[in-house]
Amino acid sequence: MSTIINLTFHGIGLPQRHLEPGEQQVWISEKNFLSILDLVKDRPNVRLTFDDGNISDVKLALPALIERDLVAEFFVLAGFVDKPNYLNAEYIRSLLEAGLKIGLHGMNHCSWRAAKNGDLKEELFVAREKLQNIINQNIKNAACPFGEYDRRALKTLKQAGFKHVYTSDRGNANENDWLQARNTVTCDDNAKSIAELIDNNEGMIFRSIRRSKLLAKRLR
Ligand SMILES: [Zn+2]
Repeated sequence: MSTIINLTFHGIGLPQRHLEPGEQQVWISEKNFLSILDLVKDRPNVRLTFDDGNISDVKLALPALIERDLVAEFFVLAGFVDKPNYLNAEYIRSLLEAGLKIGLHGMNHCSWRAAKNGDLKEELFVAREKLQNIINQNIKNAACPFGEYDRRALKTLKQAGFKHVYTSDRGNANENDWLQARNTVTCDDNAKSIAELIDNNEGMIFRSIRRSKLLAKRLR
């Protein structure tokens, strides 16, 4: 069992499209992005994820990851594939061909907390099918939009057979855990703040406190 720290990126560089409310906060400059990659390339306990399937995943993240021999998982919105400034099918396959992973971020970028059964079906099953048809292989992992979930969403994710489900609950995780807490990288972050975040997360006491808090959240 190994303790890991998951980071989540969204868009990188200058946005080429109108951003959703609050999205600016998770859009990071290319300079800060590259400095964070340089930091984590020597930290094998840090795992990288990218949400939303922005076009910067292939234009900026892909070459930077290859250059540093880093791997990452990209959580794509099935309903946004082919939209302007998002990944298209060809781009998604190019990430896979580079040895990176593709996961599911749902269909329409809506919260899975308090979602109706029909919406969860569309977000998890229909969306997964659509992505699987693009990549011609199984999707194993999912990441909750906005990090939001409730007991019913988790139950449906479990029934759907996802191997790991990624949240945005901050802190560290165990690589074998089904539910994986992640730390969202914001526009205020740089290599220094992420180095502090990693160091702060390497304590067992902090970890046990967080686990009990998470358990309470899961049962709500
Ligand atoms: Zn998202």
